[in-house]
Amino acid sequence: MRFVHESMAQRVAFGAGQATELVIAELEGILASRPLLIAGTAAESLAATIAQRVPDARIWRQVVQHVPVEVAELARTAAADAAADAIVSIGGGSATGLAKAVALTTGLPIIAVPTTYAGSEATDVWGLTEDGHKRTGTDPRVLPRTVVYDSALTASLPAELRIASGFNALAHCVDALWAPRANPINTAAALEGARALRVALPDVVAHPQDVDAQDGCLYGSYLSGVAFASAGSGMHHKICHVLGGTLNLPHAATHAVVLPYVLAYNSPGAGRQTPRLASALGAQHGESALTALQTLRDELAAPRSLGDLGMTEDDIPAVLPEILRSIPTSNPVPVTERSVAGLLRAAIRGNHPAIEEDV
Ligand code: NAD
Repeated sequence: MRFVHESMAQRVAFGAGQATELVIAELEGILASRPLLIAGTAAESLAATIAQRVPDARIWRQVVQHVPVEVAELARTAAADAAADAIVSIGGGSATGLAKAVALTTGLPIIAVPTTYAGSEATDVWGLTEDGHKRTGTDPRVLPRTVVYDSALTASLPAELRIASGFNALAHCVDALWAPRANPINTAAALEGARALRVALPDVVAHPQDVDAQDGCLYGSYLSGVAFASAGSGMHHKICHVLGGTLNLPHAATHAVVLPYVLAYNSPGAGRQTPRLASALGAQHGESALTALQTLRDELAAPRSLGDLGMTEDDIPAVLPEILRSIPTSNPVPVTERSVAGLLRAAIRGNHPAIEEDV
C-alpha cells in the first residue's frame, strides 16, 4: 500500500432526542454565548428551544438551496450585528451551507445539527451561487467543529425527500471509490456507509419512527460525508454540481437520478471496488453493484429521470463543456464529449443506465 490520508478534526455527538442538551454542552465547551442559530423551516422548534436556554442567541430563518451569495451576505451582516461568537446550523445541507458561508469570512466555529442525509456537516467544502454559477472550494474554517446527530429530528422528513437524500449519501460513498484522493481508509468509510444506508433506508421509509433505522441512516450519511471529504469529488459529483448550479435542479434528487448512470459508466474500470460495493449493497448470487443499486431504487421508487426534474435535451450544450472540464483526469474510464452527452441523454430520458444513448 502506498497512500496519503488526512483525517479531519471534528467532534461528533450522537444521541436520539438529545439535540438541545448536546448543542448547549458544545456551546459551553467553546465558551460561546451569542450563537447565530441558522434554522431552516423544519428546524424552528429546536431553534426556539435553544434560544430559550441561551438568551443572547439570535435566530436566522432565511435558508435557500445552493446558498445564493446575497443570502450569505445578509447572514454575515446579521452575525456581525449580533456580535455572534458561534454558529449553530439546524437543517439540511442548505442550512449547513449557509453556516459555512458565514464561517468562511468570519472564522466563527460551527456546530452543525443535520436534519437530512446530505453529509455536508462532515466536509470542509463550501458552495456559493452567483449569477447562476455555483462556486465551491475547501477551507478548514468551514468544517463544523462539532456535529450533533439527533435522529429524532429526521422523523419529519417526507418520504420523497428522505429517499432522495439517502441516495445523495449513497452517491458520496460510491463516488469516493474512484475520486482523486481515494485510498484504503476513505474506501473503508465509503463501503461501510453504503452498507449502513442499504440496511437502514428501506427500514426508515417503511417505519419513519423507527429509531434504529433513523440512527442507521445518520450513521451512514456521516460516513458518506467523511469519505467524500477525504476522497474528493469524482465524476458523479462534478456532473451533479454543474447541473445544480446551472439549471437549479433539486440537489438530492439529481444525485439520486445520476448515480446509477455514473456507476454503470465507471464500473468497467473500477477494478475490485465494484464487487466490494456490490457486497456492501447486499448483492445476491453474484449480482453486480449496478443491479444491487437498481434493486434499491426500485424498492424505494427513487427519482428516475432528469426529465422529471425539469432538464431537457436542449440543456445539454449549456452544461457539457463545464462538466467535461471538471471531471478528474483520474476517472477510471476516460470521458469524451460524446460519452458524457450520451450519459446525460439517458438520464434525462430515464433509460436503463447500462444502455448507452447515441447522441
Ligand atoms: P435542503 O437542506 O435544501 O432541504 C430540503 C428541504 O427539506 C427544505 O425545504 C428543508 O426545509 C426540508 N427539510 C430539511 N430537513 C427536514 C426534516 N427533518 N423534516 C422535514 N423537512 C426537512 O436539502 P439537502 O439535500 O439536505 O441539502 C442540499 C444542499 O446541500 C445543496 O445546496 C448542496 O449543494 C449542499 N451540500 C453540500 C455538501 C458539501 O459538502 N458542501 C454536501 C452535500 C450537500
